[in-house]
Amino acid sequence: MIDFASLANAGIRALRAYDPGHDLVALRRAAPRPLLELGSNENPHGASPRAIQAAIAALDGAHVYPDPLGGDLKRALADGLGVEIADIVLGNGSHELLMQFAQVFAGPGDEVVASQYGFAVYALAAQAAGATLRLAPALPPAHAMPRGHDLDALRAAITPRTRLVYLANPNNPTGTWYSGAAFEAFLAGVPAQVLVVVDEAYAEFVDAPDYASALPLLATHPNLVVTRTFSKAHALAGLRVGYALAHPACVAVMERVRESFNVNAPGLAAAQASLADAAHLAASLDANREQRQALSGALRSRGLAVSPSQTNFLLVEFGDRTARVEAALLARGVILRPMGGYGLGDCLRITVGTQDDNARLLAALDEVLA
Ligand SMILES: *Cc1c(COP(=O)(O)O)cnc(C)c1O
Repeated sequence: MIDFASLANAGIRALRAYDPGHDLVALRRAAPRPLLELGSNENPHGASPRAIQAAIAALDGAHVYPDPLGGDLKRALADGLGVEIADIVLGNGSHELLMQFAQVFAGPGDEVVASQYGFAVYALAAQAAGATLRLAPALPPAHAMPRGHDLDALRAAITPRTRLVYLANPNNPTGTWYSGAAFEAFLAGVPAQVLVVVDEAYAEFVDAPDYASALPLLATHPNLVVTRTFSKAHALAGLRVGYALAHPACVAVMERVRESFNVNAPGLAAAQASLADAAHLAASLDANREQRQALSGALRSRGLAVSPSQTNFLLVEFGDRTARVEAALLARGVILRPMGGYGLGDCLRITVGTQDDNARLLAALDEVLA
């Protein structure tokens, strides 16, 4: 028998694969009635019908390779975001790009900085590249942004060996965010050759007045990278389309490792059509905002601590009841995301569903907590 782990690169040897939560396919097969899936921050309001139509139409060309440049989608993104095509690299989801930034810019002997309770992919990316991960402590649970990014601590974790910093704004799994002003001050203190990757997977959902996307800072900060995705607000998680915005010279280096046809034709077509359906996106965001507020209120009225969120999910504290609540909800067909992997074993992450979803969740929760 070959010990394959010992043959792997040093970084991979110690790596544990990304934990996607429950085996939903198996759970669906066994469930007596449709599950209520609130564990993966998917958008329950669904994709734009125009995006679905575009994806179906693209299947007529399934025998040919997709556009390796993703030119039409990049043009639409560039027009919408006020950037140039050369500033964009497309990914098979932004997860792929987050991994590749570490692969390209960090290696053994280098350090990658991220926050405690930051998105799990950052640690994976650093380890897979063989780099050393330095975790900055998060803000304390009692802070106004419980367990959110502490930008001062992140800045302090940067050393001469640091090549890359990963932040998420807003962050998953905490739902917290930091202000545009705070980020500008942080960025001003980061050495010019350290890449700062800001993951804005949930940016479309935000309406907090103090929030600002990092996008406008790209023009003045060549070491800044912003990643976005079509998986969340655009509700296209199944088609795997994400993108990063960066300095054209950074994009050019990333292009060296990008698999030529990494985004498939239905994905490209659907993403482009989704960008053109602003009304659908706006309705989706409005519905999420309304339900997020209603669900947070309903959970708080039951005495539960709910983190402030600018996303489509809530981090909720259940204390020493957490495992029991999770299991009892699972038995009732309600899937939430356990947080033990994040060191948050006393919390569950709950995707904000539709009004009906949230009513079913609360009814099940009331049974379980009774
Ligand atoms: C969901 C999510 C992503 C995006 O994943 P895709 O690969 O684009 O589907 C990236 N970052 C965070 C923080 C997320 O929660």
